Parts: sequence; structure tokens; C-alpha cells
Amino acid sequence: MKTRKAREVYTLADLGEWPRVAAEVSPPVRLGVLGDPVAHSLSPALQNAALNHCHMQMQYGRFSIRPNELAEALELARTLEFVGLNLTVPHKVAACALVDELEAEAREIGAVNTIAVRAGRLLGYNTDGIGFARAIRSEFSVDLRDLRILILGAGGAGRAIAGQSARAHCERLVIVNRDLEKARELVAQLQPALAGPRVLGPVARLEAVPWDERALRFQIDHTDLVVNATPLGLNPHDLSVLPATLLQPHLMVYDVVYARQQRTPLVAAAREAGARAADGLSMLLHQGARAFEIWFEREAPLDIMRVALSA
Ligand code: NDP
Repeated sequence: MKTRKAREVYTLADLGEWPRVAAEVSPPVRLGVLGDPVAHSLSPALQNAALNHCHMQMQYGRFSIRPNELAEALELARTLEFVGLNLTVPHKVAACALVDELEAEAREIGAVNTIAVRAGRLLGYNTDGIGFARAIRSEFSVDLRDLRILILGAGGAGRAIAGQSARAHCERLVIVNRDLEKARELVAQLQPALAGPRVLGPVARLEAVPWDERALRFQIDHTDLVVNATPLGLNPHDLSVLPATLLQPHLMVYDVVYARQQRTPLVAAAREAGARAADGLSMLLHQGARAFEIWFEREAPLDIMRVALSA
């Protein structure tokens, strides 16, 4: 059968007349990412490489869906024989109230990035946390439980990463956020998972810390892994979320932001400081692989997906 590739981007109007629109392509589009903006998403490259490799007769598309269109788009996906969806900015929180069932991690984080459609029901998952844990293992050959972790950001990505770190019973967890109250709320939520005794000297095992240089300088001395979970670095003119002068050679630095052709500002600053550093492409890979596992209940072809991302 000759492949006719999916369009670059579909809209809600396309979903409204899906039988006609879907007939343009072969194999059919039965998976996709909904976002606004969505044109930059690398998920189609990642997932289509996996589908193709596994001889699954379907394609993964991009859907430009505005916030006020999300409910209708999900209702249409429910009835149109979609297998599953990914959600990106700005839909992850809103989707929680629109799915039929929320798996435990998505409920805890308050955000859905993956939906499986089963027998007309929408099941909401969050694969960012597990994607992060697998990325850290592959980039630095360490497990979260052995690390003192400092996370910058307490939005959707920050909460998923913090939740995963707490569930892994990491050595220490510090949340830094521009809006300190949000960091405090997250710390309160994570307290039960990190209540066990640990001998850590002068620092708390779990704390919220204000975003100021003195506080950060003190915390870095008691940190193994620094994570940027803010969008800072996404814009080509952004400065590094932390300057090289604050970073130290003993650190591992992970930036959820990714830049395919060059280093993100934080990765560049970390290398300048002599630290090991990686950007968010590996997290994108592993959260996508986990979504594939959920949709098809089989192992994802990780090497194929990795190559597709680096192409
Ligand atoms: P949210 O909008 O939910 O949260 C944004 C966070 O960044 C908040 O903590 C916010 O702080 C902080 N922030 C935003 N702007 C600034 C600023 N100028 N200075 C300091 N802090 C700031 O976004 P997400 O958490 O969903 O996404 C964050 C980033 O992570 C995005 O770039 C996204 O693309 C990326 N991401 C990457 C993934 C991957 O696989 N690599 C997976 C998921 C996300 P405040 O609360 O004070 O507003």
C-alpha cells in the first residue's frame, strides 16, 4: 500500500469532517498531539518512526487546537476511532477535567500529557515524570533515589519531575520557583513521600527556596542534580536560567528545554562551569516511548525513536 503522508497540521474543523479529511491519507491518522502552538512539535517524527518500524498501519498527526476548542476536539477523538493523543501547552491541566479516568500520577500532578482511547473512554496519563527518570538514568547513569535534586520551576513539568523524584525517595529535594507560594504548595504535597529520616547535616531534606542568588548559592553546595523546568532558554535570546558563576563542576545539570542543533543557554553555562549537562531531548524521547507503551501495551522501539529525533 502506498503511503500518503498526514498533513503538517490539522484543525478542529478538520476533525469535524474527519471521514473526508482522513480519506486523503494512508494509513489513517489515529494518533496525534493537540497544542497551541503545535507546529514545532517533534512528537510526529518520534511516533511515526516507531509506528512505521513496528508495522502499525496508522499515522500520528499534529492538531492545532485552541484552549476553547479542547473539549470538542476530545469528544470528536473519542468517537473517531483514535487510539490515543498527546497534549502539550496549554492543554495539560484543562484535560484533567475532560477525561473519563485519571491514572494516579496524572491526578497527583494535576496534568495530563497522554490519553488512551479505550472502548470510547478517555484515560488520562502523565508520562513526563517517568520520562524524566529514564532520561536521567540514560544521560548520567544514576537513579533519582541517589541524588540531591534542585528543581527550578513548579509548573506542569516541575510538578511531574518533583513527584517522580519524591516517589523515588531521592536523597533531598529543593523546589525553587519565581512564585514561592507555588513551590511551598508543592513541597506540602510531597511531604509524606519524603518524611523518612536522613542524615543531611545543615539542610532540610525537602524545602521550598526563593529564587535569589544567595539562597541558590547555598543550595548548590548541597545539590547533585540541577533541573531547569521553566521555559527559560526556549527563546534564542534567553540568558541561561542560572549563570555559569553559580554552577559548579560537581553538578549534573538537566534542562527540560531542548535545542536540536545547538546547546541551550543552561547547558552551555553548565559546561563552562565544568559540570556535566544534557538538554530535554532525552526526556522528550522517553515520555514519548512511555506513551507508545501505554497505547499499544508493548515495548517502544527506543533506538528507532532516538534516531528520528536526532535526524
Ligand atoms: P508551565 O507554564 O506549567 O510552568 C512554567 C514554569 O516556569 C512555572 O514554574 C513558572 O514560574 C516558570 N517560569 C516561566 N517563566 C519564567 C521566568 N521568566 N522566570 C522564572 N520562572 C519562569 O510550563 P510547563 O511546566 O508545562 O513547561 C515548562 C517547560 O518545560 C516548557 O518549555 C516545556 O516545553 C518544557 N517541557 C519539556 C518536556 C520534555 O520532554 N523535554 C516535557 C514537558 C515540558 P511561576 O510559577 O512563577 O509563573
